[in-house]
Amino acid sequence: MITIDGSEGEGGGQVLRYAAALSLITGKPFTIQNIRGGRQKPGMMRQHVTSIEAAAAIGGAEVSGLAVGSDALTFHPGVVQPGEYHFAVGTAGSTGLVLQTILVPLMLADAPSRLVIEGGTHAMAAPPFEFLEKTLLPIIARMGPKVAVELVRHGFFPRGGGKIEIEIEPAALTPIDCIERGDARSIKAEAIVAGVPFDVADRELDAASKVLSDWPEGAFAPRQIPAGEGPGNALLIEAAFEHVTEIMSGFGKMGLPAEKIGKTAAKRMAGYLASDAFAGPYLQDQLLLPFALAGGGSFTTVKISQHTRTAMDLIKLFTGTVFAVSEASSGPVLIKVDAVTE
Ligand code: ATP
Repeated sequence: MITIDGSEGEGGGQVLRYAAALSLITGKPFTIQNIRGGRQKPGMMRQHVTSIEAAAAIGGAEVSGLAVGSDALTFHPGVVQPGEYHFAVGTAGSTGLVLQTILVPLMLADAPSRLVIEGGTHAMAAPPFEFLEKTLLPIIARMGPKVAVELVRHGFFPRGGGKIEIEIEPAALTPIDCIERGDARSIKAEAIVAGVPFDVADRELDAASKVLSDWPEGAFAPRQIPAGEGPGNALLIEAAFEHVTEIMSGFGKMGLPAEKIGKTAAKRMAGYLASDAFAGPYLQDQLLLPFALAGGGSFTTVKISQHTRTAMDLIKLFTGTVFAVSEASSGPVLIKVDAVTE
């Protein structure tokens, strides 16, 4: 039985999701205490419970301690069963993070799966739908498994109500090297508003354009979607290269000025563009699990995040796989799958 202290490292929901995914893949049970111990309000929130319910459903796992507010649980995995599944978070909790929990186990299964996940599609501190579609999944496809995603309906904080559909075509993972971005292909910044004043989108884009001052005016576009999918707002700043598309995002919230959302996301994009790295600050931790299971490969990235360090620790704990991290005084960081298996 693997024992985890959920307050260590990043100390958030990611520890729990990664542990569940790794447990399903390796067949090793785990017990975790101090879940989200590094957060202001520790214990599981609705979205974490749904993620573990999803992991238990696809993996025939036995779980104890699973409830909103609970800060400890034990997870005994069974056998991963591909097929058709429907999960609903019930809040604006992220559909992308529920997917993060079960994606890798299902893409290594012996048959395809079809998933419907309801909840938030554009919410704070989680990958927005476009990031899954354009940033993460094309890299997974290069490694073997083909995963198609469709946005059926947007879901914003706090109402949720979004819906995504996912089709997973499993395949063995092939190691790949993601060092260069390749030639620049396109840039755009899109501000989506649903049932909130259009002016919010304009103000976000205006602030973003001041930071990304060399981007042409035509790269900044407001988009209104049906008010019934809101209220909500998301800013998606996208840079597509030959080998990778990175998306930096921001999400509207009561009391958070549109100018701040625009400036923060644009600064993140400017930092990424200046770095020459393949993976930005969020893609980084999300690549580790597929790379570890491929048993090789490498990628360049920006400054290492705490999420990444925590994911590396968990991967080592469950699989014995370690990553070599080369941080040069200038230029991007290189992450490489190093020693494999215990
Ligand atoms: P908590 O509420 O405990 O913070 P959580 O479950 O919401 O927990 P984290 O543990 O912080 O989330 O993990 C968030 C995950 O979402 C990470 O894998 C991170 O890379 C990803 N992520 C966060 N923001 C973005 C973003 N803007 N774009 C893409 N991915 C993101």
